Amino acid sequence: MPNVPEPMRELVHAIREALLQEYALLGPLGFWKTPTAMSTPENASAHQDLFGKSQSSAEPPPPDPYARIEALIPSDSPLHSMHTLEEVARYVANATLIPIDARRTHPVFGVGNPQADLMVVGEAPGAEEDRQGEPFVGPAGQLLNKMLKAIGFEREVVYITNVLKSRPPYNRDPQPEEIEAHLPILYKQIALVRPRIILCVGRIAGNALLGRNGSLRALRGKVHDFYGLPVVVTYHPAALLRNPQWKRLAWEDLQLLRAHYDHLKGPAPSDKR
Ligand code: URA
Repeated sequence: MPNVPEPMRELVHAIREALLQEYALLGPLGFWKTPTAMSTPENASAHQDLFGKSQSSAEPPPPDPYARIEALIPSDSPLHSMHTLEEVARYVANATLIPIDARRTHPVFGVGNPQADLMVVGEAPGAEEDRQGEPFVGPAGQLLNKMLKAIGFEREVVYITNVLKSRPPYNRDPQPEEIEAHLPILYKQIALVRPRIILCVGRIAGNALLGRNGSLRALRGKVHDFYGLPVVVTYHPAALLRNPQWKRLAWEDLQLLRAHYDHLKGPAPSDKR
């Protein structure tokens, strides 16, 4: 939307998301989780004409969110030929996509259950994460573990990663070109892990994944639709350590995430490994 003022863009986003949420609640929720429910022999006859011929007007099932998200990866990226998280982690460890990749102590790829139903996405590794090669191991990580536990998820059952896989010096904010270079790795992780829902912690992670440019206030408190995958954005645990008065709002976001997760939870997708 070129030349459209920012408040107008946010309004359009808000309307679109309200419509998508209504569709998610009232429409055929989770259609992509149960593809066979749409094509049983019983209901197939509903699409036949008077002479028993199949009607071509039957809607094809929409592509699943993971295929749609994987399609965001640039077509010339080597990520397309990779089929496991281990392969992608090896690629990340050996690649220098941006200057900070050459300066890191360790790449910080991701940790946790490779088939997690919940994926947590942060911004970028800090000093402790850079030292250990694991996301969210410093004080913010301790609080993140407590936040997850409060809604019934142990750290080990979720998959945790960041938008950037390398630490920006002096913990500065990631730059747009750094986000652009590393975002395809996150898309690939989502396509391989196939989470049912994503929690973004912090404005930068939320904006990067959703392709937005909003304040945390504009991003939090709702379930976003990211190519068919629900995404909740809340405060970064490091921000909560500095501003404990925001914990009540973060708790609301976490409860929203848990309620949406419970609502979604049906039979696992047939191709979930
Ligand atoms: N902050 C982040 O966003 N990610 C980490 O891994 C640690 C701190």
